[in-house]
Amino acid sequence: MTTATEQTVRDEDERPTPLVELDDVSKYYGNIRALEGVSLTVHAGEVSCVLGDNGAGKSTLIKIISGLHEHDAGSFRIEGEPAQLTKPRDALDRGIATVYQDLAVVPLMPVWRNFFLGSEPTVGWGPFKALDVERMRRTTREELLRMGIDLRDVDQPIGTLSGGERQCVAIARAVYFGAKVLVLDEPTAALGVKQSGVVLKYVAAARDAGLGVVLITHNPHHAYLVGDRFVLLKRGAMAGSHLRAEIDLDELTRQMAGGSELEELSHELERAPKPLHLGGEPTPD
Ligand code: ADP
Repeated sequence: MTTATEQTVRDEDERPTPLVELDDVSKYYGNIRALEGVSLTVHAGEVSCVLGDNGAGKSTLIKIISGLHEHDAGSFRIEGEPAQLTKPRDALDRGIATVYQDLAVVPLMPVWRNFFLGSEPTVGWGPFKALDVERMRRTTREELLRMGIDLRDVDQPIGTLSGGERQCVAIARAVYFGAKVLVLDEPTAALGVKQSGVVLKYVAAARDAGLGVVLITHNPHHAYLVGDRFVLLKRGAMAGSHLRAEIDLDELTRQMAGGSELEELSHELERAPKPLHLGGEPTPD
């Protein structure tokens, strides 16, 4: 008889080539180990979550995937081919879009202007060339609606949107410009519960549109709502790698919280049964 886990592993072997595959990747800054032996697989139509505390190596991992830094050891493949990214443009050209937590937007410019920033369509020719404002407005509205985002007014400055809405616009933008892989850097870190839910809904929408999503987070609850696979990082090393079928939310939370380390701490923090007598004469109450 085959167990569910064996079946999952067998299914895994029969999957199409992953969009992104990191295998045993390491990165050192001088003699500081930022990442060592880290593996991550990203498939189309799936969300791969990378979980870890501060200093775990999450940003370093993003930098490698998005072409900001090159890895020192291990292999990094995009659609089965060894990746040689030397700048962020290389990653974009291979279909990898990264949405950073501190989004690069121009707050006073309208939503549609930010949506097309750096890729503005034009009309006319030569000295008569001008920005195709109407097309940008219309496309922005349509694309946001397609992701289920109903913005009252795409003419409002993007700075007037909530943090969650801005994340959603950035996700819709990446989908529109043809990203195959969407890397999200802690998209819910600065948000409340409701806004986090909204952003996760669009993460799911990007997944359903066939993108492979890398969701970086330190929140196991958020990860488990949308994740298909989970990689846990701790001080630059892999502390776990699980398919959804292999782990439940409680176990993921336990591992993320430090699992056995927390149990040890809780043991140490238990109240002593009697006040400790530290020597000398007992003082009257
Ligand atoms: P996280 O994003 O999970 O907080 P980072 O990837 O930023 O983790 O950092 C992982 C480790 O690498 C940390 O110990 C950090 O101090 C170190 N590190 C990150 N970037 C640099 C750098 N440019 N130079 C030196 N050390 C770095």
